[in-house]
Amino acid sequence: VEHVGERGEHSVAKSYQRKHLSRHPWKWFGYQLTVTLVATTLIVTSVYTPPGGWTGLLQKVIAKTLVPIQNESIRMLHRLTNKPMSKQLTTATGIQQPLPQRPSYSIQARLDTASHTIHSEADIWIPNLHDTHVRFYLFTENDHPIQVKSVTFHSKNVPFSSSPQMIDVQLPSRVDQAILHLVFDTPILQGGYRYGEKDNVWTIGYWYPILGVHNTNGNWSNPPQPQGYGDPFLEDNGDYDITWTAPASFHWYTTGPLLVSKTKGTETTYEWKIENVRNFALVGSPRFHDHSLRMQSGTILHYATLDDTHDNQLATIIKQATDTYTERFGSYYYPEFSVVETPAHTVFAQEYPGIALFSADIWSWTSGEHWIAHEIAHGWWYHSVGDYESQTEWLDEGLAEYSSLLYIEHRYGIQAYLQEAKRLRDLWKNQQSYTPNGSGTAIPVGDEKVDQPYTSFQNQLQYYYATYLRTTVMYLDLRDQMGDKLFFDWLQQYYLKNAGKVATRTDLTNALQDVGRQFLPRLNQWLDTPNAKLIQEMTAH
Ligand SMILES: [Zn+2]
Repeated sequence: VEHVGERGEHSVAKSYQRKHLSRHPWKWFGYQLTVTLVATTLIVTSVYTPPGGWTGLLQKVIAKTLVPIQNESIRMLHRLTNKPMSKQLTTATGIQQPLPQRPSYSIQARLDTASHTIHSEADIWIPNLHDTHVRFYLFTENDHPIQVKSVTFHSKNVPFSSSPQMIDVQLPSRVDQAILHLVFDTPILQGGYRYGEKDNVWTIGYWYPILGVHNTNGNWSNPPQPQGYGDPFLEDNGDYDITWTAPASFHWYTTGPLLVSKTKGTETTYEWKIENVRNFALVGSPRFHDHSLRMQSGTILHYATLDDTHDNQLATIIKQATDTYTERFGSYYYPEFSVVETPAHTVFAQEYPGIALFSADIWSWTSGEHWIAHEIAHGWWYHSVGDYESQTEWLDEGLAEYSSLLYIEHRYGIQAYLQEAKRLRDLWKNQQSYTPNGSGTAIPVGDEKVDQPYTSFQNQLQYYYATYLRTTVMYLDLRDQMGDKLFFDWLQQYYLKNAGKVATRTDLTNALQDVGRQFLPRLNQWLDTPNAKLIQEMTAH
């Protein structure tokens, strides 16, 4: 497959057609099966709908019976069921609910390591626009935002206004869909930032303009204001075709699988392609030692370390963590997963789609193993089941954090799980802090809830307390209340129905509605009650 360099205004549309018309021959069978499934679904759903709805039932049946082709089957089902459904229009309490888009990004980029700049051109196809203007977010937490140089529509430059956090493009008239061509430069900071270069390890995330998210009224939402902690991001899933030129000595770990690479002189050009992901990130360095293993579900997992000191330890954590999450929730949704060690004094641990990152100094923390297990759990809660992070951060962080307790249970036994559960309950009841490398300081958390937007927390201590600690204690409690059978049925139902989608609180409650609706009041109590009041309610009896 050689189409590096083949780009034009309609390349996104072309590549979209290519995706659907010229599959590999073995995929033909997949499409036949898809067609059969569609027909069967249409006929059967027209006469009868089970209490939990057909999507969940079908996904569950397929997930349980066709294990060897589970990933592909679920993906096909998601293609069938990926249309925005009316339930997603429901507005959760106090939260403005966006309407999902599914843009395609075709980006050609060159990393200039000498000037610490990425030079890019992108064709971005917006299939469901119905608007006269288009908003793109420039996610940045520094004073060096992405520089958008031009925006072209139908080969003509169109005006746009820009600020460090977004650009608003004005189209000549209202259109239902559009392909916009953007030319932009992305400066790369030097130092241990979330995205940047440190000790020749390049962490490249949120490096291109990301299509804005619509709110319920069909207007563009404003980008969330970064607070210096947490994940101030808001985005829909998209399809990606990335052509990337960089020094040939680098090894890259990315969101999508490699299609083709070609080395010419001292540079290599790669093309990666993946559909339906949160965004596209890359981590590259000439320093990485590359290893790989196969997850229980068949997914290939790559892991990269900077030296060999912790290789065996890391392999065991990865194996135990992915076994735990596959058994408890279901198979990882995407074909590849990478776990990457970054130099000391970079961000302690962070998630990108398809990639779990942790800083090498985490090995000296007592909680280091915990955070690696937590980041791997984001493979299920964030890569696979996405969420609008700045609005419902608790949805992915709470489950990733609770999942790391399931890892402890799987690896060290139920007593270790119970001991950690007690420690977290006590921290919560005593209103003590819960932060990455240290916890247990008294903090005032009077009226905080779990379900509140990122920007509404007063500081980092309250944010971690509500989003990570209280949410984890909530899952501990619900498991006690529901019993293992119902509790894990609920999480599996939520996972299988929402992998490959951007989920909301409504999706979590709908899954609980399906398996144990009598526990909904308890869930809502945990999510919505001001903290001091909740501690009283939960400790009263
Ligand atoms: Zn996390």
